[in-house]
Amino acid sequence: MQDHLQIKDWGLGLSGHTIIAGPCSAETPEQIEKVCLDMKKENMIPGMFRAGIWKPRTRPGSFEGIGEDGLKWMEIVRHHLNIPITTEVGNAAHVESALKHKVDVLWVGARTTVNPFAVQEIADALRGVDIPVMVKNPMNPDLQLWLGALERFSAVGINKLAAIHRGFSDSYDKRFRNKPNWSMPIHLKREWKGMEVINDPSHIVGNRDGLLETAQRAINFGLDGLMIETHHDPDNAWSDAKQQVTPARLKAILAQIDFRDTIGEENPSERLNDLRNAIDHLDDQLLDILQERFSLIDQVGAYKRENHLTVFQSDRWKYVMESRTKKGVDKNLSEKFMKELLYCIHEESVKRQEKQLREADPIRKA
Ligand code: PEP
Ligand code: MN
Repeated sequence: MQDHLQIKDWGLGLSGHTIIAGPCSAETPEQIEKVCLDMKKENMIPGMFRAGIWKPRTRPGSFEGIGEDGLKWMEIVRHHLNIPITTEVGNAAHVESALKHKVDVLWVGARTTVNPFAVQEIADALRGVDIPVMVKNPMNPDLQLWLGALERFSAVGINKLAAIHRGFSDSYDKRFRNKPNWSMPIHLKREWKGMEVINDPSHIVGNRDGLLETAQRAINFGLDGLMIETHHDPDNAWSDAKQQVTPARLKAILAQIDFRDTIGEENPSERLNDLRNAIDHLDDQLLDILQERFSLIDQVGAYKRENHLTVFQSDRWKYVMESRTKKGVDKNLSEKFMKELLYCIHEESVKRQEKQLREADPIRKA
C-alpha cells in the first residue's frame, strides 16, 4: 500500500483520537450558528465540524441537502469555533463547490464508495489538490471496495487519507441501522498499515441510546476517532432526527468513554513483551500440531483413495464437530469460535484429500 499521512500530520492541529461532530445536514444559517453556540456553551469543541450539504437519500422527495448555499454558512463555524470543516462529496461538481468554499476535509459517503465510477470521478476532480479525504465503508461488507476507493485517491496523489466505519446494511439484524461487522475495520487496518479508521456510531446505531456502547467498542477495538451527529434540536432535525444528539449529550457520552491508547510498537512494556513471547511460543506449537494433524489427514486420504471411499464422511464430521465444540466450550471458548475453527480445519482437510484423489486419477486431474 502507498504511504499516506496520518491525521495528526494533516496540518489541521489534530491529535489523539479524532472527534468529529456536527449535524447530519446543514439546514439554515441559524441552525449552524445554534449548534456552534451550544458547543461553545458546553465547552464541547470537537476536532472537526461535520455538516452534510448534499444528502444521498434512499428515496427522492425527502430532504436532499441544502446545496452550495450551505457551504457559505461554514464561515459561521469558522467564526465561532475555528476548527476544520468536513462535508460529503458525491460527484465532481460537489468537489468543485467544496474546494471553492475552502472546505478543509472531504468525505466520501457509503453509497458512493460502492460505485468505482463515482469514486474515480471524485478522485479525478481532486488530482493535484492537497486536501484530506476520508472514505466511508461501502454499504455492503466488501473490504476490497473500501480499499479500492482509498487506492483511487492515493493514485491521484491524495496522501492525507483516513477511513470511516459506519456499518453495513443488513435487513435481518434489527439491532442496528447498519450492522458494525467489527472485523471489517480491523481487516482494513491490517491490510493498509497505519490507515486510521474513525467510527461513526450514529449511522451504525441509528438511535441515541446505543451511541455510547458502540463508540466504546470502537475505541476498545483500537479505532482512531468518532464521528457523532450533533444538533441543537435533534428532534426537529431535517434528516436523521432519531440519532442526533445535543452538544450537551455528546459531551456526556465522550466523558463516559474510556479512551485507550494504542501501544507504540517501538516500546511495549516488559510485561507485554513477556506475554507476547509466550504467545509466539504457543503459536509455534500450534503450527507443529497442525502440521502433524494434516499429515494424519493425508494418511486417511490415502486410505480412502485405496478403498474407494468418498472424502466427505458425514457421520465422522458430525462426531468431530459435536465432540470438539463441547470440549472447547468446556474450556471457555465460544461455540461460534469453535464452529468456525472446525469448519476451517475441515474444509482444508477435505480439499487436501480431494486433491489426493484427483492426482491419483490422471483422467480427472484437470
Ligand atoms: C452522513 O454522514 O450523514 C451520511 C449520509 O452517511 P453514510 O454515507 O454513512 O450513510
Ligand atoms: Mn446522517
